[in-house]
Amino acid sequence: MLNTIQTKDSFDFKDVKEVGDDNYTDIIFSWYVTNRCQYKCSYCSSYAINRESESNFKNYKLVLKRLSLIKFNFRIDIIGGEPTLHPNLIEILESLHSNEYCNDIYLFSNIKDIDKLKMLKKLNLNKIILIASFHQEYNNIDNFIEKIKQIDLKLIVNVNITDDSIFELLDKLIINDIDYSINPLEDHDNYTHINKHDVNRLEKYLNTQQTIIYKAKNNFEFTPYEIKLNKLNRFKGWKCSPIMYEINSNGDIVNECTDKVLPFIPTKKDLYDKIICEQDCCECTAMYNIKKEFHE
Ligand code: SF4
Ligand code: SF4
Repeated sequence: MLNTIQTKDSFDFKDVKEVGDDNYTDIIFSWYVTNRCQYKCSYCSSYAINRESESNFKNYKLVLKRLSLIKFNFRIDIIGGEPTLHPNLIEILESLHSNEYCNDIYLFSNIKDIDKLKMLKKLNLNKIILIASFHQEYNNIDNFIEKIKQIDLKLIVNVNITDDSIFELLDKLIINDIDYSINPLEDHDNYTHINKHDVNRLEKYLNTQQTIIYKAKNNFEFTPYEIKLNKLNRFKGWKCSPIMYEINSNGDIVNECTDKVLPFIPTKKDLYDKIICEQDCCECTAMYNIKKEFHE
């Protein structure tokens, strides 16, 4: 899988006319509920924010009100910093769970506060999927897996590729039948990548990963890792309807690709507008999945 481009002789990015999934239409909100965190990972992009500003915990009611006015299906990512540090996290999750247009709630956490996460199990909020990030500078693999088992929620472990030690983690996740996704960090300056000789060892771990469809004369499928590694995330000039929005600590909702701020009650056109991409590259799996077409 890792060498798909080399072994699929007929693949040429220049032939690709369409990328992504026709059925991927839910709006995606990424809500930065706090910029604080208990850790200071060397590769963290939000750590810089932690030091410079205080989190604004008060605007959460405004954001929930705004989300209740959006009558289109959405998924929401609750991120940070570390979201479990928000004093009203449970109230936020309960409100989103009762919103009929909210299909999925992805809660990103370093799982340090295991008690708060165990409490979610008791509340039976089944739209929540916990994305548990393993941070090798702070976590011991066996302890981390033990905590995962105790939390007992629907979850995916986010494995940041920091160095060769991830192979032990991946093996133990497989043995324990725990789902995972692999997150390459190559856009960050401050990390040590796995040894080049070990890149091929990743192949068997990628086989279970979600793939993105590239339509040319034939259809090709690539994992997010392959896309990043081979720079197949360059769509400047393509036609796209970028439906990813960031919710910042002021309660503003901003398109992640165009920086356009949404009006208080957005229309369908505001949310789904088709644009010509001006970005140098798509940055994440969700962005790869959004349908985009080559524009002459
Ligand atoms: S746990 Fe996440 S938010 Fe916290 S410092 Fe590490 S990467 Fe940053
Ligand atoms: S960067 Fe944004 S606008 Fe450009 S192709 Fe990716 S999702 Fe679409």
